[in-house]
Amino acid sequence: MTDVAVLGGGLAGTTLAWQLHARGVRFRLYDRGEVAHPHSASRVAAGLLTPVTGQRPALSWRFDELAPVAWAFYARVEALTGAKFFHPGPMVRLFHTPEERVLMTERAATRFAGHVEVTDEPLDPAAFAMPHGGAVMQHAARLDVPEYLRASHAFFARHDAYEQAEVAVTTDIAATLGAKRVAFCQGYALNPLFPGVKFDASKGEILALRIPGLTEDRTVNRHGQWLTRVGPEAYRAGSTYDRAALDDTPTPAGRARILEALTRSLRLPVEVTDHVAAVRPIIDDSRPLVMTHPDNPAWSYFNGLGSKGALTAPFFAAMLAGHLAPPQANPGERPT
Ligand SMILES: Cc1cc2nc3c(=O)[nH]c(=O)nc-3n(C[C@H](O)[C@H](O)[C@H](O)COP(=O)(O)OP(=O)(O)OC[C@H]3O[C@@H](n4cnc5c(N)ncnc54)[C@H](O)[C@@H]3O)c2cc1C
Repeated sequence: MTDVAVLGGGLAGTTLAWQLHARGVRFRLYDRGEVAHPHSASRVAAGLLTPVTGQRPALSWRFDELAPVAWAFYARVEALTGAKFFHPGPMVRLFHTPEERVLMTERAATRFAGHVEVTDEPLDPAAFAMPHGGAVMQHAARLDVPEYLRASHAFFARHDAYEQAEVAVTTDIAATLGAKRVAFCQGYALNPLFPGVKFDASKGEILALRIPGLTEDRTVNRHGQWLTRVGPEAYRAGSTYDRAALDDTPTPAGRARILEALTRSLRLPVEVTDHVAAVRPIIDDSRPLVMTHPDNPAWSYFNGLGSKGALTAPFFAAMLAGHLAPPQANPGERPT
């Protein structure tokens, strides 16, 4: 018998598995796998961690508290797996209007102090148009989420703690999986054991691009649209928000929207090499949801990572793992 069965090996479940591993809890992680489910949110995500977000710029929710946990967490998993998937580095925000520049200049000296520096020409003018200038944001990063999942699942498989399987969600799931507890981390999926959870999900599309001649390796963000480098002359751009069609089918309209936004600032021709879509698991107020079932303390739920899972997952997975760890494995915590 294992202590915790973790159902779902996306960002939420995989990060929870690491946080259980760190506390010496016996766990087993179950996931459909990359071949069966290539367009999960985690396998499509850009994986950007951004200190200042929003069209009216604001410090990302609890950034100063969440970021140190995330940075330390991904560095530790890289050391344990020997893989490289976390890429910290500055990000450039191009201003969309003169008003945005005024607002950012004001905030760079106050609430964004230490995170943002406003400048006239943050990028190569031969490659980008930037009539209103921009800002360089420190403390940003990109998590290569598919690589993080692959390296993590391979590590857990070597320790006999990962299984590629489609698991049926039933009331006797703990007994079926031979676990004392089950943590449900299924992303955008209705779970009959948690019928009260309401999603406010949003589909997102992303283009993979080849941009000959472009060498910029900082992520560029303009008016909510980003361009991020993933290899020599290889970039990704996106993403769209669509609450109407919640599926993983890329659309011509999504492609056109991303390209149109990109060509407002990028001066170089692009070649589309791939186009993907997935559904972001957003729950009601766009905040992570960590809970234990009101009638069955053996069932936990970790979901609602929304559009910021790379930043929030390590902190909230640690919170749940602390709760799931038996007292002898984590003397500071008292599980219910
Ligand atoms: C277009 C797009 C862009 C994004 N960009 C960013 C970004 O820049 N930064 C950021 O931080 N976040 C971003 N996100 C959001 C991020 O992807 C999500 O917050 C995160 O991936 C959610 O992870 P999850 O584990 O909750 O869900 P998922 O990734 O959906 O993982 C759930 C997993 O559970 C498995 N599963 C479910 N049910 C079962 C079952 N019964 N049996 C076995 N396995 C099961 C699934 O196969 C899947 O692998 C983006 C998302 C999208 C769609």
